[in-house]
Amino acid sequence: MAESTTILDTATFAFLDIETTGGSSTSYRITEIGVRFWRGGQAVGEWQTLINPQTRISPFIESLTGINNALVADAPVFAEVADEFRRQLGDAIFVAHNARFDYGFIKSEFRRLGQLFSARVLCTVKLSRKLYPEFRRHNMDALIARHGLSPVQRHRAMGDVDAMWQFFGHALADKGRDCVGQTIATLLQRPSIPSHLPPDILEEIPPRPGVYRFYGENDVLLYVGKSTNLLQRVAAHFSGDHNSSRGVRMSASLRRVEWTETAGELGALLLELKQIKGLQPLFNRRSRAAKRLLSIELVADRRGYLQARLARDIDPSRLGDYYGLFRSKRDGERALQGIAGKNDLCPRLLGLEAGEAGPCFQRSLGRCKGACNGEEDVVRYNLRMQIAFHNLRLATWPWAGAVGVVERSKDGERTDILVIYNWVHVATVHRQEDLDGLALAGAVHFDLDSYRLVVKALMGPADQRKPVIELPIRGLPDVLMP
Ligand SMILES: [Zn+2]
Repeated sequence: MAESTTILDTATFAFLDIETTGGSSTSYRITEIGVRFWRGGQAVGEWQTLINPQTRISPFIESLTGINNALVADAPVFAEVADEFRRQLGDAIFVAHNARFDYGFIKSEFRRLGQLFSARVLCTVKLSRKLYPEFRRHNMDALIARHGLSPVQRHRAMGDVDAMWQFFGHALADKGRDCVGQTIATLLQRPSIPSHLPPDILEEIPPRPGVYRFYGENDVLLYVGKSTNLLQRVAAHFSGDHNSSRGVRMSASLRRVEWTETAGELGALLLELKQIKGLQPLFNRRSRAAKRLLSIELVADRRGYLQARLARDIDPSRLGDYYGLFRSKRDGERALQGIAGKNDLCPRLLGLEAGEAGPCFQRSLGRCKGACNGEEDVVRYNLRMQIAFHNLRLATWPWAGAVGVVERSKDGERTDILVIYNWVHVATVHRQEDLDGLALAGAVHFDLDSYRLVVKALMGPADQRKPVIELPIRGLPDVLMP
């Protein structure tokens, strides 16, 4: 059977690996690059160089890669090889194992030189996952073991390139050129990227939880969103999964995307709320945070019957004495009416009907049991009131001071400790040591949406509740109610 023409016949593939001084491209540097080029079924050259990272190589990295400070002392710095690297790559497809890592570092090095770098990127982890979905692990060691690849010098650039190269050869022999070619073509297809954004923007956004921000012309903030997978959510925006006219208008005016990673979902939710309220993005639903909150208090009248009344000045230190939080008087009264109707409580004692003495209007209809004119026993009535309002009761902050809520990312690479006091997210730190020096002073603003989130996270069902670390009390912030 004749094989069809695929990308394998038309493109050059640059199998590339780098070594670095650490894990993150913003703070660490490249120490070695190795590339081998593949075209039409054979090797068509290779290029490698050590690079002086202009920073110390730690003993840990040295023991992992064997690349030490002495080895790179006389090597060129990236600026000296940048042009040659660009020339070597040409328009080849950038192939790497866990390509986001290598590609991110190369882009960062170019960015330090004030240059943009972009290429079509093929990740061999993704290729392996697509070709061999029956296996769970697709890291280099797993591939070497699974495909019986011959030994290479791991964690040196050319060694890892060699392993990737062998895997590619095995996959071609095993699955055939058509299958591999089509799989690569599928992997290289990108959702349409809004025209004013860099075409490789999705190569940079991490598949992790966090908050993303869309900016338009003149750097106007258009939208703030959160997700447990930033990459997926932003890609979904681009591919028109949110295909409303607003979404289309927003995509057309997009100029820049920014994001902040978080370790988990609670951190992302709280940061999103904070940014929507603080930054007022154009396309988010109007924030209603500025509105004053009302609540309900139960207070005994002269005869000892509990009355409900709307409270305008909520004391944030005794939230447990209040029932419900409402953004308007109307919302509060509507809640009271619902409770009165459902529980046959006296509307006059709930402040819904005027009048001083004698039976209320509902009494004559049989919908009030007579607290107004003393016909219902006071103990019984007060008990019915407390049961009726129970579910609305707010939670008083149960700790003496602030607490830290620990969120860890699934891969264990990131830890966020969310510092929370009186249901308000005050700060985020990343290490337990940072909690010791943390000064909590000044004022924080109570926010209804955050309150709901934090109550659910800290007071919800035991199996969903987040563990907390109690922090020493040292200058607590004032909590301001809206
Ligand atoms: Zn009544």
